[in-house]
Amino acid sequence: MKIASYEASTLLIPEDDPLADMPEEVGRKRPIVILRLRTDSGIEGIGVTFYGGAMTGSLRVAAEELAALTVGEDPMRIEHIVAKLNNGTGDSCGPGGLYQLALSAIDVALWDIKGKALGQPLWKLLGGHRDRVPTYASGSLRRGLTDDQAQKAAAILVRKGFKEMKTQMALPGNPTIADEIRRVRVVREAIGPDIRLMCDINQRWRPEQAIDIGSRIEDVGLFWLEDVTRADDFQGLARITAALKTPIAGGEYVYGIEPFRQMIQMHSVDIPMIDICRAGGVTPWMKIAGMAEAFNLPVVSHVMPEILCHLIAACPNGLTVEYMPWMLCLYEETPAIEDGMMVLPDKPGLGLTFDEKAIAAFRA
Ligand SMILES: [Mg+2]
Repeated sequence: MKIASYEASTLLIPEDDPLADMPEEVGRKRPIVILRLRTDSGIEGIGVTFYGGAMTGSLRVAAEELAALTVGEDPMRIEHIVAKLNNGTGDSCGPGGLYQLALSAIDVALWDIKGKALGQPLWKLLGGHRDRVPTYASGSLRRGLTDDQAQKAAAILVRKGFKEMKTQMALPGNPTIADEIRRVRVVREAIGPDIRLMCDINQRWRPEQAIDIGSRIEDVGLFWLEDVTRADDFQGLARITAALKTPIAGGEYVYGIEPFRQMIQMHSVDIPMIDICRAGGVTPWMKIAGMAEAFNLPVVSHVMPEILCHLIAACPNGLTVEYMPWMLCLYEETPAIEDGMMVLPDKPGLGLTFDEKAIAAFRA
């Protein structure tokens, strides 16, 4: 079996909030790139990547230029192909930036092909630790909502059966410490003590602010506090992690494998969060998860639950899947949630089929 052809497209998908229906800005669109790799035996593997923003057109071209190097290669030899792509870009275009994001789409598509060729779902190919995984509602309880809206949205998520959900602090404007603390407390009030609650800062605090505010909310019982300061300040993160009882999660902004070694060795986080696009695909994602396992750390996923559920289910230290529903609209069907858990599909590969009508409508 050989890779015969490829096709990449730029799409503009709606930035809505399908979980609680409180979108930040009605009508706003998110640019993404989808990739199809086709083999001479008729198998099509799919990949999705983004974070290109205004450079999404360049990201599509980067994916096409890398995909061109896969033509004629055996899709089962993924490490061989990745080495060829590295070599083809002079071994110095990555890791990091557009190269890594484009590589990710290719690697994901290759794993999809491998699963389809072997007739096995990806989560089983990668280890098959569990056939259902915990998941948390994400993207609804944002910092831009009023307290009242946040409480209403939280109640909707509980009614929908979510047992875990994430909110945000580092409120817009010039919030006082009291404002920040009030927000996380009103969300906790709305959901009760038994729902797992995470809170994302998205790199917006200074280390001393994180320690100050974080220590005042320890009684809220957060499951984790995420990206409390700049993602590349591994030492600052380590100070915060040492100072707070609440577990610190982070890593979604980190590119490639090696920086995770630094983060883990410096005890920068309690819970590494691995983004598949920035990691560079399934292959490096699983290596980072294995590295964390050796340090007795759990790992969590970032966005694209329809793909990342496979990876969290595969590894023994996978903790929970971020149910960020941004990309669900791309597919005919996505994994079900039962009793707060994502149910892994039996279909081969990713188990996902593009909804061609939707794709046509989103085409940029
Ligand atoms: Mg985050």
